[in-house]
Amino acid sequence: MTAPEPPAPSVNRSRAGSGSTESRTAATLLELRRAVRDVPDFPKPGIIFKDITPLLADADLFRKATDALAAPFIGQGITHVVAVEARGFIFGAPVADRLGAGFIPVRKAGKLPWRSERIEYALEYGSGILEVHGDAFDHGARVLVVDDVLATGGTAAATCALAERLGAKIAGCSFLIELSFLGGRAGLGTRRVEVVLRY
Ligand code: AMP
Repeated sequence: MTAPEPPAPSVNRSRAGSGSTESRTAATLLELRRAVRDVPDFPKPGIIFKDITPLLADADLFRKATDALAAPFIGQGITHVVAVEARGFIFGAPVADRLGAGFIPVRKAGKLPWRSERIEYALEYGSGILEVHGDAFDHGARVLVVDDVLATGGTAAATCALAERLGAKIAGCSFLIELSFLGGRAGLGTRRVEVVLRY
Protein backbone atom coordinates (compact mmCIF):
# COMPACT_ATOMS: atom_id res chain seq x y z
CA MET A 1 0.00 0.00 0.00
CA THR A 2 1.26 3.46 -0.81
CA ALA A 3 -0.75 6.67 -0.68
CA PRO A 4 -4.18 6.74 0.99
CA GLU A 5 -7.16 6.43 -1.33
CA PRO A 6 -9.04 9.59 -2.29
CA PRO A 7 -12.21 10.20 -0.27
CA ALA A 8 -15.43 8.61 -1.45
CA PRO A 9 -17.22 10.94 -3.87
CA SER A 10 -20.70 12.14 -3.14
CA VAL A 11 -23.10 10.37 -5.46
CA ASN A 12 -26.59 11.28 -6.53
CA ARG A 13 -28.09 8.11 -5.09
CA SER A 14 -31.36 8.34 -6.92
CA ARG A 15 -29.58 8.16 -10.28
CA ALA A 16 -26.72 5.86 -9.29
CA GLY A 17 -26.69 2.50 -11.02
CA SER A 18 -26.41 -0.76 -9.15
CA GLY A 19 -23.24 -0.78 -7.08
CA SER A 20 -22.29 2.85 -7.72
CA THR A 21 -22.66 4.01 -4.14
CA GLU A 22 -20.47 1.12 -2.97
CA SER A 23 -17.88 1.50 -5.69
CA ARG A 24 -15.23 3.30 -3.64
CA THR A 25 -15.42 1.63 -0.24
CA ALA A 26 -12.05 0.68 1.26
CA ALA A 27 -12.79 -3.02 0.71
CA THR A 28 -13.60 -2.52 -2.97
CA LEU A 29 -10.54 -0.36 -3.56
CA LEU A 30 -8.35 -3.03 -1.95
CA GLU A 31 -9.90 -5.73 -4.16
CA LEU A 32 -9.30 -3.64 -7.26
CA ARG A 33 -5.73 -2.82 -6.24
CA ARG A 34 -4.95 -6.49 -5.66
CA ALA A 35 -6.19 -7.31 -9.18
CA VAL A 36 -3.71 -4.94 -10.86
CA ARG A 37 -0.48 -6.79 -11.66
CA ASP A 38 2.85 -4.98 -11.71
CA VAL A 39 5.03 -6.11 -14.62
CA PRO A 40 8.58 -4.75 -14.18
CA ASP A 41 10.61 -3.69 -17.21
CA PHE A 42 7.72 -3.79 -19.69
CA PRO A 43 7.66 -2.57 -22.41
CA LYS A 44 11.21 -1.44 -21.67
CA PRO A 45 13.67 -1.44 -18.77
CA GLY A 46 12.72 0.81 -15.87
CA ILE A 47 8.96 0.88 -16.58
CA ILE A 48 6.60 -0.90 -14.18
CA PHE A 49 3.61 -1.72 -16.35
CA LYS A 50 0.21 -1.77 -14.62
CA ASP A 51 -1.44 -4.85 -16.09
CA ILE A 52 -5.20 -4.62 -15.66
CA THR A 53 -6.06 -7.89 -17.42
CA PRO A 54 -6.62 -9.85 -14.14
CA LEU A 55 -9.13 -7.17 -13.09
CA LEU A 56 -10.88 -7.23 -16.47
CA ALA A 57 -11.20 -11.02 -16.42
CA ASP A 58 -13.15 -10.92 -13.15
CA ALA A 59 -16.77 -9.95 -13.90
CA ASP A 60 -17.41 -8.56 -10.42
CA LEU A 61 -14.22 -6.44 -10.39
CA PHE A 62 -14.72 -5.21 -13.94
CA ARG A 63 -18.19 -3.98 -12.98
CA LYS A 64 -16.91 -2.40 -9.76
CA ALA A 65 -14.08 -0.63 -11.60
CA THR A 66 -16.52 0.73 -14.19
CA ASP A 67 -18.90 1.87 -11.44
CA ALA A 68 -16.04 3.62 -9.61
CA LEU A 69 -14.96 5.46 -12.78
CA ALA A 70 -18.51 6.64 -13.45
CA ALA A 71 -19.68 7.43 -9.90
CA PRO A 72 -18.21 10.95 -9.49
CA PHE A 73 -19.89 12.04 -12.73
CA ILE A 74 -23.40 10.71 -12.20
CA GLY A 75 -25.85 13.58 -12.38
CA GLN A 76 -23.20 15.91 -13.89
CA GLY A 77 -24.88 16.27 -17.27
CA ILE A 78 -22.23 14.32 -19.23
CA THR A 79 -23.34 14.04 -22.86
CA HIS A 80 -20.34 12.11 -24.22
CA VAL A 81 -17.49 9.95 -22.96
CA VAL A 82 -14.28 10.29 -24.98
CA ALA A 83 -11.60 7.62 -24.81
CA VAL A 84 -8.35 6.78 -26.60
CA GLU A 85 -7.61 3.40 -28.13
CA ALA A 86 -6.95 0.78 -27.04
CA ARG A 87 -7.35 0.38 -23.29
CA GLY A 88 -9.34 3.59 -22.94
CA PHE A 89 -12.09 1.93 -25.00
CA ILE A 90 -12.40 -0.95 -22.51
CA PHE A 91 -13.65 1.36 -19.77
CA GLY A 92 -14.90 4.29 -21.83
CA ALA A 93 -17.79 2.44 -23.46
CA PRO A 94 -19.32 0.93 -20.28
CA VAL A 95 -18.82 4.22 -18.40
CA ALA A 96 -20.75 6.00 -21.16
CA ASP A 97 -23.51 3.42 -20.77
CA ARG A 98 -23.62 3.98 -16.98
CA LEU A 99 -23.91 7.74 -17.50
CA GLY A 100 -26.47 7.56 -20.28
CA ALA A 101 -23.93 9.30 -22.54
CA GLY A 102 -22.67 8.75 -26.08
CA PHE A 103 -19.20 7.39 -26.80
CA ILE A 104 -16.60 9.11 -29.01
CA PRO A 105 -13.44 7.19 -29.99
CA VAL A 106 -10.10 8.95 -30.32
CA ARG A 107 -7.69 6.92 -32.44
CA LYS A 108 -4.10 6.81 -33.58
CA ALA A 109 -3.36 8.41 -36.96
CA GLY A 110 -5.03 6.95 -40.05
CA LYS A 111 -7.57 4.64 -38.40
CA LEU A 112 -10.75 6.70 -38.66
CA PRO A 113 -12.79 6.54 -41.89
CA TRP A 114 -14.29 10.03 -41.98
CA ARG A 115 -12.83 13.56 -42.14
CA SER A 116 -10.77 13.88 -38.96
CA GLU A 117 -9.09 16.49 -36.81
CA ARG A 118 -5.69 15.64 -35.39
CA ILE A 119 -3.39 16.70 -32.61
CA GLU A 120 0.31 15.99 -32.28
CA TYR A 121 1.63 15.49 -28.78
CA ALA A 122 4.92 14.71 -27.07
CA LEU A 123 5.75 11.15 -26.07
CA GLU A 124 8.66 10.08 -23.89
CA TYR A 125 10.67 9.63 -27.08
CA GLY A 126 9.37 11.53 -30.11
CA SER A 127 5.75 12.41 -30.70
CA GLY A 128 2.37 10.82 -31.37
CA ILE A 129 -0.76 11.80 -33.28
CA LEU A 130 -4.35 11.39 -32.10
CA GLU A 131 -7.40 11.85 -34.32
CA VAL A 132 -11.15 12.21 -33.90
CA HIS A 133 -13.91 12.75 -36.44
CA GLY A 134 -14.36 16.45 -37.14
CA ASP A 135 -18.13 16.21 -36.68
CA ALA A 136 -18.01 14.05 -33.53
CA PHE A 137 -19.07 16.74 -31.09
CA ASP A 138 -22.46 18.40 -31.05
CA HIS A 139 -22.57 22.01 -30.06
CA GLY A 140 -22.74 22.05 -26.24
CA ALA A 141 -21.18 18.62 -25.75
CA ARG A 142 -20.19 18.13 -22.12
CA VAL A 143 -17.43 15.55 -22.13
CA LEU A 144 -15.85 13.08 -19.74
CA VAL A 145 -12.42 11.72 -20.77
CA VAL A 146 -11.79 8.15 -19.54
CA ASP A 147 -8.59 6.09 -19.53
CA ASP A 148 -7.08 3.21 -17.59
CA VAL A 149 -3.83 4.93 -16.54
CA LEU A 150 -2.79 8.56 -16.01
CA ALA A 151 1.00 8.44 -16.42
CA THR A 152 2.75 11.55 -17.80
CA GLY A 153 -0.65 12.96 -18.77
CA GLY A 154 0.34 13.67 -22.37
CA THR A 155 -2.36 11.48 -23.87
CA ALA A 156 -5.16 12.87 -21.70
CA ALA A 157 -4.07 16.49 -22.16
CA ALA A 158 -3.96 16.07 -25.94
CA THR A 159 -7.38 14.40 -25.92
CA CYS A 160 -8.86 17.28 -23.92
CA ALA A 161 -7.27 19.87 -26.21
CA LEU A 162 -8.58 18.11 -29.32
CA ALA A 163 -12.13 17.91 -27.95
CA GLU A 164 -12.05 21.54 -26.84
CA ARG A 165 -10.84 22.65 -30.26
CA LEU A 166 -13.97 21.03 -31.71
CA GLY A 167 -16.22 22.93 -29.31
CA ALA A 168 -16.64 20.46 -26.46
CA LYS A 169 -16.51 21.43 -22.82
CA ILE A 170 -14.46 19.05 -20.65
CA ALA A 171 -16.45 18.27 -17.51
CA GLY A 172 -13.62 16.10 -16.19
CA CYS A 173 -11.29 13.16 -16.60
CA SER A 174 -11.67 9.79 -14.87
CA PHE A 175 -8.81 7.28 -14.54
CA LEU A 176 -8.64 3.87 -12.93
CA ILE A 177 -4.96 4.36 -12.00
CA GLU A 178 -2.83 7.44 -11.40
CA LEU A 179 0.96 7.11 -11.33
CA SER A 180 1.21 10.23 -9.18
CA PHE A 181 5.03 10.26 -9.13
CA LEU A 182 4.94 11.14 -12.86
CA GLY A 183 2.99 14.35 -12.20
CA GLY A 184 0.59 13.90 -15.13
CA ARG A 185 -2.19 15.73 -13.32
CA ALA A 186 -0.32 19.04 -13.72
CA GLY A 187 -0.69 18.83 -17.50
CA LEU A 188 -4.47 18.74 -17.13
CA GLY A 189 -4.49 22.18 -15.54
CA THR A 190 -7.66 23.14 -13.71
CA ARG A 191 -9.77 20.38 -15.28
CA ARG A 192 -11.48 18.07 -12.80
CA VAL A 193 -9.52 14.83 -12.35
CA GLU A 194 -10.92 11.77 -10.55
CA VAL A 195 -8.83 8.67 -9.86
CA VAL A 196 -9.80 5.30 -8.39
CA LEU A 197 -6.36 3.91 -7.44
CA ARG A 198 -3.37 6.13 -6.75
CA TYR A 199 0.24 4.92 -6.78
P1 AMP B 1 0.58 9.11 -20.59
O1 AMP B 1 2.04 9.08 -20.25
O2 AMP B 1 -0.27 9.58 -19.41
O3 AMP B 1 0.27 9.85 -21.84
O4 AMP B 1 0.19 7.58 -20.82
C1 AMP B 1 -0.02 7.10 -22.10
C2 AMP B 1 -0.83 5.83 -22.11
O5 AMP B 1 0.05 4.77 -21.86
C3 AMP B 1 -1.97 5.77 -21.12
O6 AMP B 1 -3.18 5.82 -21.84
C4 AMP B 1 -1.80 4.43 -20.43
O7 AMP B 1 -2.82 3.54 -20.85
C5 AMP B 1 -0.46 3.91 -20.89
N1 AMP B 1 0.51 3.79 -19.81
C6 AMP B 1 1.48 4.68 -19.51
N2 AMP B 1 2.25 4.23 -18.51
C7 AMP B 1 1.74 3.02 -18.16
C8 AMP B 1 2.09 2.03 -17.16
N3 AMP B 1 3.12 2.21 -16.32
N4 AMP B 1 1.34 0.91 -17.10
C9 AMP B 1 0.31 0.72 -17.95
N5 AMP B 1 -0.06 1.60 -18.89
C10 AMP B 1 0.64 2.74 -19.01
